Amino acid sequence: MAANDNKPKAGEKIPALKCPICRRATEEKFRPFCSQRCADVDLSRWLTGVYAVPAAPDDEADEGEFGAERPADF
Ligand SMILES: [Zn+2]
Repeated sequence: MAANDNKPKAGEKIPALKCPICRRATEEKFRPFCSQRCADVDLSRWLTGVYAVPAAPDDEADEGEFGAERPADF
């Protein structure tokens, strides 16, 4: 067992996260965004319903399968 295995190898850096709004490198101060401006853009998108999550199709499939196998006298 080598004691040096836990040390990060040279050149093995964690890739910088990208701003979900403009795809630029994020700033630690504004994570996960690159700037206050992009954080505001994201917030306004949430507030205006752009990120509204549609109903999951998986639930519908499971419900149908369960209904077909459910005993009549349940
Ligand atoms: Zn940005």
